[in-house]
Amino acid sequence: KVRTRFAPSPTGSLHLGSARTALFNYLLAKRCGGQFILRIEDTDQRRSSEDFEKQIYKELAWLGLKWDEGPGPQGTLRNSTGPYKQSQRLHFYTEHVQRLLDIGKSYRCFCSPEALQAKAQLRDSAGLIGRYDRTCAHIQKDESSRRAAAGEPHTIRLLSAETAPLVKDLIFGDIKHQSSSSQQADGFDDPILMKRDGWPTYHLANVVDDHLMDVTHVIRGVEWIPSTPMHLELYDAFGWVPPKFAHVPLLTDADGAKLSKRDSAATLEQLRDLGIFPETVVNFAALLGWSHQERSDFMTLSDLERLFDLKLTKGNTVVSMGKMRFLQNAHAVQMTKGTDEAFRYLVDDVAKIVQARFGDVIDPILGSRPLKDYVSRLLKADVKNFTTSARFVEESRYLFIPIDKIIKRGFRATTISVDEIYPSLQDDEEYFKSAETTTLEPQVKETLERLKNRLDKLNLEDWSETPLKEVIDGLLTEMLDEWKGLNSADDR
Ligand code: GLU
Repeated sequence: KVRTRFAPSPTGSLHLGSARTALFNYLLAKRCGGQFILRIEDTDQRRSSEDFEKQIYKELAWLGLKWDEGPGPQGTLRNSTGPYKQSQRLHFYTEHVQRLLDIGKSYRCFCSPEALQAKAQLRDSAGLIGRYDRTCAHIQKDESSRRAAAGEPHTIRLLSAETAPLVKDLIFGDIKHQSSSSQQADGFDDPILMKRDGWPTYHLANVVDDHLMDVTHVIRGVEWIPSTPMHLELYDAFGWVPPKFAHVPLLTDADGAKLSKRDSAATLEQLRDLGIFPETVVNFAALLGWSHQERSDFMTLSDLERLFDLKLTKGNTVVSMGKMRFLQNAHAVQMTKGTDEAFRYLVDDVAKIVQARFGDVIDPILGSRPLKDYVSRLLKADVKNFTTSARFVEESRYLFIPIDKIIKRGFRATTISVDEIYPSLQDDEEYFKSAETTTLEPQVKETLERLKNRLDKLNLEDWSETPLKEVIDGLLTEMLDEWKGLNSADDR
């Protein structure tokens, strides 16, 4: 039975990379008829925050990734291996680290932080890598217990093996560990499992939980590869079978630099603010490093649940905004087909923006028609140009302001971008006058007036792509003919 987990630390906003990790874990579980677990790794008390934790729930819900087990009402239904917040599982870690102490696989370290720092400095200046020198590994068991019972502050360290275990990764294959202390002559890297305050480190909590939660597959970022040998040592120390590991490569920007918060589309929050649909994010994230045999890249979450496998690349993956836009458009097109919830959502979204931006001038265009009606027709007619709601409104703003206002300014439109037409409707008259006396071009004005006459004859129902195009094309053809002297039609 496949069981996967997404184990975020609530120490920041979820990134596109974390969304991908969550998604891959979710999809593998779904594909195999298994379970997807959400576990909050909040053992770093200083950096964890409840706000970030809430944000994680919100983002996963936004993406539509439901967990089978995890915190909250959703997870408590089948609460077989919970609780799912590490801060509520401290007793498990204490109990397990004690087991390691009992069998001599771990030991208490009484060295003070200052003493450790001094040691590290000494080794640094000697050109050695600063690792723990195992002073406390030699303390006798009963002495160690006595000092602990007397309340002397201490950490608990893993007694590392001499050689680091080989990591067998589902994506990278066999990985030889390079940086492990145990291969270095100058010392041992006995990682801390339990901190002085009695809280576990990430490594201990992560391994204990993956085991207790029966996790079979761990999909996580490459940045965890260096920790994996140590995790394997821990599994071994406990006598447990480790899960299978699949480390997914880094996401980079177009220049090959690691995607960072500075990139405008790095976090889910940013993507949502940009108006990207969750459907797009899911589709986009799934393709970051996963290759499929389908004819099209357009996929919904349920398509992915059916198709996903671990055919993932080792290479870093470039995040392309062009691809994002393409998928966004494909999802918008999909939404306009049919009258389902997604389309209503889209219409609402666009209408909200129209209302905010053009609410004060839109009435003459709408007549008695509800705004949403009008918006839904426009969307259906012009969806092939859709990227985001805000841009859609921006790009079709001429459809939200009364045409005579445009006509009034129209002569300027040939020389000045449409951008300049709208913002200053308030000082319309002034603008018009000054423009008229300086740059008025009678021919342009005349043309626009002819166009207005024709558009006025259209029913509001016909304000969609084809009839509008017919009107404009018709006029253009006529004018061309006129200019060629072949025809002198005049319909003013
Ligand atoms: N809490 C770790 C993180 O935030 C989890 C890493 C793992 O999946 O093991 O990335």
